[in-house]
Amino acid sequence: MKKTALMLLLAAGLAHAEEPLRLDTHLDTPIHFGRAGWDIMTRHTYHDDMSQVDYPRMVEGGLDGGFFVLYTPQGPLTAQGYQAARDWALMRSVHIREMVAAHPDKFELAFTADDALRIKAAGKRVVFQSIENSYPLGTDLSLLETFRRLGVRMAGPAHFLDNQFADSATDKPHWHGFSPLGKTWVAEMNRLGLIIDASHSSDEVFDQMLALSKAPIILSHSGCKAIYDHPRNLDDGRIRKLAEKGGVIQINSVYLSKRESDPAMSAVDDRLEVIDQLSPDEQARLIADYQAASANDHRPRANFDMFMQNLLHALQVAGVDHVGIGADWDGGGGVIGLEDVADLPKITTALKAAGYSDADVAKIWSGNVLRVMRAVEQVSAGMSAGH
Ligand SMILES: [Zn+2]
Repeated sequence: MKKTALMLLLAAGLAHAEEPLRLDTHLDTPIHFGRAGWDIMTRHTYHDDMSQVDYPRMVEGGLDGGFFVLYTPQGPLTAQGYQAARDWALMRSVHIREMVAAHPDKFELAFTADDALRIKAAGKRVVFQSIENSYPLGTDLSLLETFRRLGVRMAGPAHFLDNQFADSATDKPHWHGFSPLGKTWVAEMNRLGLIIDASHSSDEVFDQMLALSKAPIILSHSGCKAIYDHPRNLDDGRIRKLAEKGGVIQINSVYLSKRESDPAMSAVDDRLEVIDQLSPDEQARLIADYQAASANDHRPRANFDMFMQNLLHALQVAGVDHVGIGADWDGGGGVIGLEDVADLPKITTALKAAGYSDADVAKIWSGNVLRVMRAVEQVSAGMSAGH
């Protein structure tokens, strides 16, 4: 490359310094952090590696960071189940912190809204932590304080199945909302300054969150029922109520259209959830099985236009102050035309084409979620001051 071309590229890079902070509120990437031989500094493709986020693709797609998830699959509601889940979730946080510690010039742990802006200004990627499924807390809510001290700033009560705290969107009603312990969970979340995440919760749980929480809530990776009628998506009435209470819905790239289940692909997905327990040989076999299953998978897939319809519908219903992005990368997200985080600039381009201003786009990419985070921090400070 000639020196002048390099100078132009550097100048373009400086111009980008004014670009807004871009966060995704649900990155399941920690499933890869403990994987033997996996390096976040190497550029991968989903086809070759089954990952959607790494440092080179974050840079390419302009993703400044987000909430890295401590995801725990739902297991039995027994003392033994709780203990195993607790250790699993604690190790997830350890993996996140080890990843950041290994790359201190590229990543930094974030604990407050102000941290995120400071870390971006320092030229690094922002690593918040969140809990998907509070099952690992067992019946001991004091663990919420432990996870807060480890850096967790957001949590949702349940995942695909009902648990000790709440009903799941994708299970039968058991508690019809929160359990008594779940209502205490809400109060503790407010007291500790943790953002309450309604993604995966049933509609009854969502309604009770709005009624009980003293702070605005989030849906870290959800969509609109008006686009596709699925229990994981929210109806327009509830989206409006969320906005009235100051909350935010972060738009998912999953549940955009009907997709029949495929046994071969489901088996691959189950193994992907525990990929960090596989040896390099077992990983290679999983990837080969995935490639074979996907070559035989002729089910229609959702595409980028459908993702944008979901996003634009949410913006229309909730307003530009109450919508963001949480595409479920490394957790089942990705559609044709939006395959990994390297494709994220397409979202900004499409928002601008739809008439959204730079200021609007900045709110969608992080302004709204940081506002919610500040409100949650203030409620917590108010409670500890005895108000
Ligand atoms: Zn999820």
